[in-house]
Amino acid sequence: MSSPQTARAIAASVNAGTSARTAVDAALARAAADTTNAIIRVHGARAQAAAAAVDARIAAGERLPLAGVPITIKDNLCLTGVEATACSKILTGFVAPYTATAVARLEAAGAVVVATTNMDEFAFGSSNETSAYGPVRNPKDPTRIPGGSSGGSAAAVAAGIVPVSLGSDTGGSIRQPASLCGVVGLKPTYGRVSRYGLIAFGSSLDQIGPLATDVADTALVLEAMAGHDANDSTSAARSAAGLAAAGQGGSLSGLRIGYVAAHAQGLAPAVARQLETAKRRLAEAGATLVPVELKHERYAIAVYYVLATGEASSNLSRFDGVRFGHRTANPESLHTLYAQSRAEGFGREAKRRIMLGTYVLSTGYYDAYYRKAQQVRRLILQDYERAFTQCDALLGPVSPTTAFRLGEKLSDPLQMYLSDIFTIATNLAGVPAISVPFGADEQGLPIGMQLQAAQWADAGLLRIAAGLEALGRA
Ligand code: GLN
Repeated sequence: MSSPQTARAIAASVNAGTSARTAVDAALARAAADTTNAIIRVHGARAQAAAAAVDARIAAGERLPLAGVPITIKDNLCLTGVEATACSKILTGFVAPYTATAVARLEAAGAVVVATTNMDEFAFGSSNETSAYGPVRNPKDPTRIPGGSSGGSAAAVAAGIVPVSLGSDTGGSIRQPASLCGVVGLKPTYGRVSRYGLIAFGSSLDQIGPLATDVADTALVLEAMAGHDANDSTSAARSAAGLAAAGQGGSLSGLRIGYVAAHAQGLAPAVARQLETAKRRLAEAGATLVPVELKHERYAIAVYYVLATGEASSNLSRFDGVRFGHRTANPESLHTLYAQSRAEGFGREAKRRIMLGTYVLSTGYYDAYYRKAQQVRRLILQDYERAFTQCDALLGPVSPTTAFRLGEKLSDPLQMYLSDIFTIATNLAGVPAISVPFGADEQGLPIGMQLQAAQWADAGLLRIAAGLEALGRA
């Protein structure tokens, strides 16, 4: 079975008259033959009808930026009439009554959703092992995890099933799996993409973003789905114009690329080596490397696990066995209906986070934990604001290691939480960040480099990322 072309190539050929069915049927066949457990639901009939609708629009003279491009979406994104479970047993049987704005905009631009991808339950995790549908295998080495929580989305792109997949990123869930699977993954500025129709984890941190084979496709997809949405009051009225063009890249000469010296500590040797190579090649390309300091970054994991669990415990309180998904059989009372439905429906990590989050929000502890964490979050943002007066983008690692083995960190939540040490501060500050493939380790496992930029500097970020991508291929 052939691998997909880029989204750009597919759209160009469909806009020129090739039927959208060609690329969509090929992707449906690859999705059905998936061996990584990345794909949990294939939407054959729906996708074929959508492809026919794209063909009709092209025949009527329309030209669409994503004409006939097959995509997959993470299982926390709603699509009218389709089951969406966030890979939790508690949402089994929940059929979405509406389509997420980000997905609807991609469909309006000609994209066709062919399948839903696996994920960590409610996006809690860094290895895709907390899913009710079982773990995903890394397409580069099936004994290893693909990263998480958007592990299925990253694996679907890395396995060549689709050129583009949507994920969500609360503390690294797009960038870390993109890095471990060798694809591009973008977390846009908070508020750039509407969260309407995204099953919420941490509402002040969550962003939807694309995973793709290259920066140009990533940028094309971002432009198609970005922009204000009346259904999400945190989405901003910022123009998306120019985002796709930025993905074409530009000269790196004269740019100031910041780095944090402390990031080089504790990295796997191959990751450290690639980081040094990236710096050297950027300098050779004419960029100036600038050391910067993020003083409060070392508190990011602690702050995140207070705020994110607090928000998660609140967001998950709506799953009570009454309104959505799973309900316990024969409850004795209303109370046992709630308690038993939740006990049966949530997995271990979800329960851990609900308990932690309820604790930090409770009277008496709120000031000591939640309020304090909010104050430190502000200091982290201020560090970034200062850093971005000194540089145009910040270069660093995405993950301290390459893909680890299935089961390796499952019994040690703290080790698992440390997987995101370089990605979490980004979400606390609301800034955009991207993971770009940059070589591999001794075993051929992919390594990603991260670039971060100031809030709303997504276009500049994409332009520099396209340059770094080319240096990574050199
Ligand atoms: N791995 C982090 C967590 O478990 C981040 C997950 C995410 O970005 N959704 O919370």
